[in-house]
Amino acid sequence: MNKELKTTRPKLRDYEPLIGRCVLEELKILADKLSGKTIHNINSTYIGGGVAEILSRMVPFLNELGVKTKWSVIKGDNEFFNITKKFHNALHGKKEEFKESDFDYFLEINRKNSEELNLSEDIIFIHDPQPVALVQKRKEVGEKWLWRCHIDVSNPDEKIWNFIKTYVENYDAAVFSAPNFAKPLRIRMALIYPSIDPLSNKNKELSEDQINSVLYKYGIDKKKPIILQVSRFDYLKDPVGVIKAFEMVRKTIPCQLILAGGTATDDPESDKVLGEVKEVAGKNPDIRILLLPPDSDIEINALQRAATVVVQKSIKEGFGLTVTEALWKGKPVVASAVGGILLQIKHKITGLLCHSIEGAAYAIRTLLTNPEYAKWLGKNGHAHVKQNFLITRHLKDYLILFLTQYFKDDLLYLQ
Ligand code: UDP
Repeated sequence: MNKELKTTRPKLRDYEPLIGRCVLEELKILADKLSGKTIHNINSTYIGGGVAEILSRMVPFLNELGVKTKWSVIKGDNEFFNITKKFHNALHGKKEEFKESDFDYFLEINRKNSEELNLSEDIIFIHDPQPVALVQKRKEVGEKWLWRCHIDVSNPDEKIWNFIKTYVENYDAAVFSAPNFAKPLRIRMALIYPSIDPLSNKNKELSEDQINSVLYKYGIDKKKPIILQVSRFDYLKDPVGVIKAFEMVRKTIPCQLILAGGTATDDPESDKVLGEVKEVAGKNPDIRILLLPPDSDIEINALQRAATVVVQKSIKEGFGLTVTEALWKGKPVVASAVGGILLQIKHKITGLLCHSIEGAAYAIRTLLTNPEYAKWLGKNGHAHVKQNFLITRHLKDYLILFLTQYFKDDLLYLQ
């Protein structure tokens, strides 16, 4: 069981001041309709990345609402995760080399997991491609099978998508994070935006003292403007591009760059990326690379709150929860115009979009030299997240998704 699940966490009633009582009542009504149903979430890591982040909040809330929900992680060795990382890259459109044996090994590990996992729940909710082939077990166990795709598969390597699709089409429904992330499928499809938890350690308000103590811990001088990117060390997050943009800005404006992130247990590539980042950063004293352990939520929260500008210069992106987190904290954000970032950053309204290293540098400079404009963007960003990307809205969407598997007609009434 994920360590985080055991810690004390906010209860749903704690959200009332933020979202109002009606929303909470609505959640309870929907949850009651699922009475007796059990849900089993399965993904490939408890730690690192957006999927684990969301599940660690969602699972306890569903249980609090009386919907018996559990979360398991599939087991795999390095070879398996190397293959699934290549799948991940290829589904994002990157050219990768595959051997026939890669597909066999992928299926073999999925088959082994399907034997080991108890899949007796009513709804088996599979997240992302790594465990997608567990669905081969559906004739024997589980009542409804749902596939939750957290990545943008709109422009994939077709061979890999066709392979994954063979399994996806055995599910009852597929859920995507944005309309333009999806591919046509012969099964029902749903659109559900991801979310952040405003009361989690990652996002709750922090006192000045708490923020300062994190800065002190990492030896960060807050007098110099802070440019921050928080991300796993992954090529698709383009940390090297961030350093290059920062170097351009630093020529005219004194500032510092913090690249903060850890590694995910299902990503074997991250050590290599981290090595390259360190090499490019060289001995520049204004660049700090913080390798964060998995339970660094307060640290990330404090760094985001201390940042002058938050950057997310991804080459490809799923939804981009780091952007949501920064917007929630009222920060001006410069982010690539990719994936779910486009749902969050409305250019020149809730942040600035960029399309290149030069564009990122230009946008960062604009924000550093126009603090009032930066503040205005941050304020709008906060309002946008409050309206659209909080976990309570996400919970409602999941409850409706589960319900639509059983009570299609009732749902019309509920809406
Ligand atoms: N994150 C974290 N530690 C890290 C790097 C990232 O806790 O070292 C969190 C980050 O705050 C965000 C999530 O992991 O909540 C990343 O989600 P996002 O959608 O931005 O990217 P993904 O990693 O899923 O591609």
